[in-house]
Amino acid sequence: MRLNLIPLGTSAGRPTLSRGASALAVVTEGAWVLCDCGEGAQIAALRAGLSLSRLDAVLITHLHGDHFNGLPGLLGTLGLEGRQRPLVVAGPPGLTALLQHLERAGSLGTGDMEVRVLEQQGNGGEVRIEGSQFLVESRPLAHRVPTYGFRVALPDRAGTLDVARTDAAGVPRGPLLADLKAGRPVTLADGRVVGPEGLVGPRQRGPAMAYALDTVPCPSAVDLGRGVDALVHEATYEDARAALAHERGHSTGVEAARIAAEAEAAGLVLTHFSPSVDGAALADEARAIHPRIIAAQDLAEIPL
Ligand SMILES: [Zn+2]
Repeated sequence: MRLNLIPLGTSAGRPTLSRGASALAVVTEGAWVLCDCGEGAQIAALRAGLSLSRLDAVLITHLHGDHFNGLPGLLGTLGLEGRQRPLVVAGPPGLTALLQHLERAGSLGTGDMEVRVLEQQGNGGEVRIEGSQFLVESRPLAHRVPTYGFRVALPDRAGTLDVARTDAAGVPRGPLLADLKAGRPVTLADGRVVGPEGLVGPRQRGPAMAYALDTVPCPSAVDLGRGVDALVHEATYEDARAALAHERGHSTGVEAARIAAEAEAAGLVLTHFSPSVDGAALADEARAIHPRIIAAQDLAEIPL
């Protein structure tokens, strides 16, 4: 199983002609989760060919409009589609009250669909999405309002079976091999018990990504991004405007690269660009610190 990232909105504060407000799809075979849901995220998801019925969860970092305003519309569409299974919406404290207020005003139109709101508290933790293969965790970031970043991963995979060795050990081809691959010892017809040791390679870590928006540079972002295949980090301004970035609760591209380097993230995806900056130039500036940096562009898929 692979993970692909599809940026659905890469602008900070407001959409522009080329960049929508914050949203990013994390996609695997047959399912996806949405990180943030800025205005226009729903239409961008359709343009990307994503099926709304396969959406497992929405992870909202904070309640600023450029990360939230697309959610009422998305929920309304899922309600109209008659979605049967519940939708998990994780986010900061205050999310439940806000959605309840919109519901009472008649703004949501979710119909019979169950919206399972999981407000993150304190240091965050596991975000349980029943029936989903995605493993999600949250950590608090440092912005002007309560904000949580997320780590999204797929489960580890079983190691590769060495068939030459299982043959040599006398294990017949068939269902016993599946048991060995899953790490279980098997009993052969002659009564011998054979364990997986030496016959199956080490388990392979499932692909993982982290999403750190909006935040000043903070230890939690390092924590979230530890060893991931891709850290998606906000980069609102170029480094010359670091003071302005911090004043507004944001980071620069160079700072995001320092976070990625410290976390030993394999790759860094910069996003959440102020309309006043050039994303590509910002990535160039940061490459001295981390070699593998992509400046996210709306709808430009990033395979991990
Ligand atoms: Zn923002």
